[in-house]
Amino acid sequence: MLKHYWVAFFVVVSWVVNFRVLDASAGDADPLYRVCVKQCGETGCVAQRCFPQCNFSSDGVSIDGPWYMQEPLYMQWKQWDCQSDCRYYCMLDRENEREATGHDPVKYHGKWPFKRVYGIQEPASVVFSVLNLAMHFHGWISFFVLLYYKLPLRRDKKTYYYFASLWHIYALLSFNSWFWSAVFHSRDVDLTEKLDYSSAVAILGYSLILSILRSFDVKDDAVRVMVAAPLLAFVTTHILYLNFYKLDYGWNMQVCVVMAVVQLLLWAIWAGVTRHPSRWKLWVVVVAGGLAMLLEIYDFPPYQGFVDAHAAWHATTIPLTYVWWSFIRDDAEFLTSNQMKRLKTSNLAKKAK
Ligand SMILES: [Zn+2]
Repeated sequence: MLKHYWVAFFVVVSWVVNFRVLDASAGDADPLYRVCVKQCGETGCVAQRCFPQCNFSSDGVSIDGPWYMQEPLYMQWKQWDCQSDCRYYCMLDRENEREATGHDPVKYHGKWPFKRVYGIQEPASVVFSVLNLAMHFHGWISFFVLLYYKLPLRRDKKTYYYFASLWHIYALLSFNSWFWSAVFHSRDVDLTEKLDYSSAVAILGYSLILSILRSFDVKDDAVRVMVAAPLLAFVTTHILYLNFYKLDYGWNMQVCVVMAVVQLLLWAIWAGVTRHPSRWKLWVVVVAGGLAMLLEIYDFPPYQGFVDAHAAWHATTIPLTYVWWSFIRDDAEFLTSNQMKRLKTSNLAKKAK
């Protein structure tokens, strides 16, 4: 029954994602919007607003020529900045007109019409990304303090918790992905988009490996490598594919959904069979995390021009991150105390001999 539910869930997600990618451009297909952007590119103005960065041809260099004929980066930058402003103000005007005639917001170039704040494209998503980053940092610091200052250490100052280094890497990859998420939502260009997508794939793939290693309690390094190697190879290939071959949104989303669903399932099944004292925290994260994924499906437009479904999704992961690191700390305490008990009994056994 549970299996059927997940299969159905996956089919719905991938269908909706594909549909969204195909349907992404209702706003920029609008002829009024197109005319506005074209005129703005020529005159540098949208209604009364004019943009100085739209005056390219100061020295007569054609902006349409091959790249080596143009003034280098500065011109490119101006041109890009001009296009970005033209699109933004044409979109705002079009959306105001549409709202006045009772129409719902539509997407432009695959994105909802967001209001900028100090030039930041999606301020809500940026704020939530930064808060996620802060939450991971807080979680990791408290994990670190617990491991090295509160729990007993071996004679060589190493911890008894044999998943410690895996969680340290997890923390680094999480910082990295939330950092690039904040950058990407501030300014959406080719480079920031690729960095955000690549970092997200990296942390998803890595946390899948972690979920397998932890739920099967894999201690042996050789077995760990055998589990991790094929997944690392796949994730690396996928990231190279996105960056250097094709940034295929539909395919990438399918890969991410499969990796996310598999690890949620693994944690859920493990939470069901384990006697871990903090298994309820796993349940909270799995259930709430699964529900939060629904937000990506019900892709609603930004409320007041700020909080859309994606931003709301970033918001929900903030408290979940807190619960998650608290589970990781509990796990460190639990396994350490288990190890200590085992040591005591083996010492007693030795003495009895
Ligand atoms: Zn995002």
